[in-house]
Amino acid sequence: MSTSPRILVSSCLLGHPVRYHGRAAPCEGDANAILERWRAAGWIAPICPEVAGGLPTPRPPAEIAHAAGGNAVWQGLARVVDDTGADVSAPFLDGARRTLTLAQRHGIRIAVLKEGSPSCGSASIYDGSFTGTKIAGEGVAAAWLRQHGIEVFSEHTLALADARLRSADSDQ
Ligand code: SF4
Repeated sequence: MSTSPRILVSSCLLGHPVRYHGRAAPCEGDANAILERWRAAGWIAPICPEVAGGLPTPRPPAEIAHAAGGNAVWQGLARVVDDTGADVSAPFLDGARRTLTLAQRHGIRIAVLKEGSPSCGSASIYDGSFTGTKIAGEGVAAAWLRQHGIEVFSEHTLALADARLRSADSDQ
């Protein structure tokens, strides 16, 4: 069995304190058991796109402005701003590019990224109003990975990602 990484995983889901407020978002229960199995197999490539893009921890919270999503940021139609009003689109884009580079270096086709984040969200993000309002959408890194053929799951769909890996094994 290969021991090279097979899955990108958000660092904060692995217990690394890299979120904007300096804390982690570790998984529990069945999700953690899956992560532990992947970790023991040497399959995980941890990544925090925002830290990879050069942002510090802690950092001001950021959202994609005006209820737009990650693809709009890539198209230059929307910006990522922090709660001071600063435009942080450039480090978000750079971090997403570095995330894809890591995946491509290892031939990784699957990612599990933290839901709700302006970088990592794959099904929901915040609407840019800093009022805690969620909308359907994806973050900057999740959108970039999907544009390049990588399947993106979240901590809520870890079991699906695990099934996807198993089916990839059975195809070989
Ligand atoms: Fe976690 Fe992604 Fe936010 Fe980094 S950018 S703290 S990996 S959700």
